[in-house]
This record gives sequence, structure tokens and C-alpha cells, in this order.
Amino acid sequence: MTGQRRVIARVLSEAEDHPDVEDVYRRAAKLDSRISIATVYRTVRLFEEANILERHDFGDGRSRYEEATEEHHDHLIDIRSGKVIEFQSVEIEALQQEIARSHGFRLVGHRLELYGVSLEVPAKKDGGG
Ligand SMILES: [Zn+2]
Repeated sequence: MTGQRRVIARVLSEAEDHPDVEDVYRRAAKLDSRISIATVYRTVRLFEEANILERHDFGDGRSRYEEATEEHHDHLIDIRSGKVIEFQSVEIEALQQEIARSHGFRLVGHRLELYGVSLEVPAKKDGGG
């Protein structure tokens, strides 16, 4: 692996969010200013093809990436803020298995994205009323 690829790999493995290519580029460029966005695009595609990375589409037309892990999770996306919450549901996983089985299939994978708006009321600063 070249030095630049190594830097990009490190950025991706340290990310705790779901960065798009431009986010990855910004972070990688801080570590090695010679890295170009074209290199980031190429490397991210390479990692995706090697199943090191998972690509997500959270409905805003930008591809987001995260390290592929053994531990499966699904995503809940706040459509106002773009915030992404990761969750796991034993019930949903079981239900999906059951649906596949009822159609004569063995499930080998799935994608699930929930889109919502937060019901939390933002705290008022003035406290008056
Ligand atoms: Zn995730």
C-alpha cells in the first residue's frame, strides 16, 4: 500500500461518522497535503471493491463511507440535520430472515435506512414565557 493510500485508510478507520469523499479528502489533506481529491476518489473506490469499505446513500445524493465491520447495524437519518444514528434491532433482523424464508430464500444481506425528523424540541435560550 502506498503512503497516500495508507493515510486515507487511517482517516477512514478513525472516522466515527459517515464521511463523503470530500470529508475524507479534507481529513487526509491535513495529514498529507500532497493528497489530491482524485487520489481519494480512486482509493475509496478501490477499498469499496475490496469490501474494506461500505458505501451508503442517505438520500442526499452523496455517497458516504464507513469501514466494513463484522458487527451489522442499520441507520436512522435525521432529514433536517443530516445526523445519522446507528441502531441494531434483533426483531428487524429476525423479521427479514422470516420474510426471505417465506419466499424460499436464504438471506445474504440487506440495507435499511430510516428517514425521520427529530421530535425533540430545541431548548429555548431566554427561558421566558
Ligand atoms: Zn454506520
